[in-house]
Amino acid sequence: MCGIIGYIGSQNKGVESVLNGLEHLEYRGYDSAGIAFISDDKLNIIKEKGRIADLRKSVEITSSNLAIGHTRWATHGEVNKVNAHPHHSGSVTIVHNGIIENYIELKEELIKKGYEFKSKTDTEVACALLDYLYQKTGDIKESISEFKKKAKGAYAIGLILDNDKDNLYAIKKNSPLIIGISKDEKFIASDVPAIIDYTNKYIILEDGDYAVLNKDSVTVFDNENNKVNRKPRTFEGDALSISKCGYDHFMQKEIYEEPEVIKKTALTDIPDISNYDRICIVACGSAMHTGLVGKSLIEKYGDIPVDVEIASEFRYKKLFLDNKTLVIAISQSGETADTLEAVKIAKKMGSDTLGIINVKESSIAREVDNRVYTLAGSEIAVATTKAYAAQLEVLSKIAYSLAKNSKDASKLKEIKDYLEDLQKLPIIMQEVLDNEEEYKKVAKEIYKHKDIFFIGRGIDYALAMEGSLKLKEISYIHSEAYAAGELKHGTISLIEEQTPVIGIVSDKLIADKTISNLKEVNSRGANVIYLTTNQIKGEGDFYSTKLVVPEVNPLLQPIINVIPLQLIAYHVAKYNKCDIDKPRNLAKSVTVE
Ligand code: GLU
Repeated sequence: MCGIIGYIGSQNKGVESVLNGLEHLEYRGYDSAGIAFISDDKLNIIKEKGRIADLRKSVEITSSNLAIGHTRWATHGEVNKVNAHPHHSGSVTIVHNGIIENYIELKEELIKKGYEFKSKTDTEVACALLDYLYQKTGDIKESISEFKKKAKGAYAIGLILDNDKDNLYAIKKNSPLIIGISKDEKFIASDVPAIIDYTNKYIILEDGDYAVLNKDSVTVFDNENNKVNRKPRTFEGDALSISKCGYDHFMQKEIYEEPEVIKKTALTDIPDISNYDRICIVACGSAMHTGLVGKSLIEKYGDIPVDVEIASEFRYKKLFLDNKTLVIAISQSGETADTLEAVKIAKKMGSDTLGIINVKESSIAREVDNRVYTLAGSEIAVATTKAYAAQLEVLSKIAYSLAKNSKDASKLKEIKDYLEDLQKLPIIMQEVLDNEEEYKKVAKEIYKHKDIFFIGRGIDYALAMEGSLKLKEISYIHSEAYAAGELKHGTISLIEEQTPVIGIVSDKLIADKTISNLKEVNSRGANVIYLTTNQIKGEGDFYSTKLVVPEVNPLLQPIINVIPLQLIAYHVAKYNKCDIDKPRNLAKSVTVE
């Protein structure tokens, strides 16, 4: 995880382009940052703990035609200036995204050869290894090829040499890396936002590739060191999509984009998956929570059993996959390392794979047999909102596509207005967004509490999990989600006078049961915030605040219900003056396992 960028050109714009690119990549990691550049034939390396803004303050020289930069999300070695990238060894300087798994043994070998290490990172070892090979062979291309044989793990590397100001090198395996192309400037970057101010033309490197860039050309070599042509692509979004457009935070802007995203994603085609006996959804974090909603919807309306697996667990457990099982991988970035590996395993075991992905041409999008894109556009806030909503929509469409052929008359009745309701959904979502003040009031009531609980049953429980995650990830308040019926098996002992409990009650069939559970916590002093629909009565004096959302088709209700949860989390974090778009320790695209 982290972001890397590199620049080679002729107008002395290297330092500014790299700093600007890092600012656009900060969502990927932001504990420390650094830049290396050649200016007047001299190598400069500047690093800072903290944000890119801190790094910017320390950079005085600005004229350079060759520069590389890094924003770090530490995996090996604490967060400090020494461990920050770029790392330098001999005549090699690199920035690295990923993990060198065998760095300990490589380090021991290199120490025996006389190398000394300043940092605790795996990256410095990679740098020393590249230098060692370069000193030995005198040929950087040969050294890179040897390096790929020796280093295990994941790496997207940007490399410059002290004695070569005309070339920038890039190496890629299991971590994302693109090359940006404009007339007399070339870039390397972890993601498109880093280069979008300069060019929308780019190449995606494949695993095992390395590339040599100079200001006029890019040459790519594959794993066998053969020169290859990688297809140039054009990014369709624009710089506006990665600016805040007047909102205080990207998160708020992205929540407000949800109606538009739902409108766009409504038009995507869903493949026919009626031939499978079983579905297995693999995902991490919020995407896993959409999987849980998807499971309820697909099982209830599509009549196919669904397992939801956390991708990092899936990889190490006994699996029962076959060609009658469809594995659905859900990932906003399409780069989530664990989910990507899960897809590879599923394919090896003979299952078909379907991706629900936001970033086109991302690693998972390319790996799966079939894909549905959520059309959420660039999502910059680390805590996902609009992409989450779009994932819910795709899963509801999958459930609908299975249900519409059902022979069960009552089910057909329940879903008969689905398509019409889907069309109306953006307008209804806007009505919910218009109630932001109500959610802000709730946030004001609860933001000082140390523990906040979310409860629900069935689909509402899956949403409770997302509401709780959203709150804790951006506000740092301890929060848990419980299946409402499970409270009395232990959890209820955590309820104290005024503990906030947000109860989600949107399923008419089980509303009374959850309301009873809310009454139970209320009798024990909890401050109940009751989130429900306009079709559920639930009267009584068991809550302090009632938040009402419109009832829509049951397949679409979660998309409505999540909005208040997202806005409550947002305002709680805002009242607490948290860094909402870049919560501590987190990163947007988790490209390490
Ligand atoms: N493993 C490297 C480190 O800890 C790179 C981490 C990253 O991808 O940011 O420095």
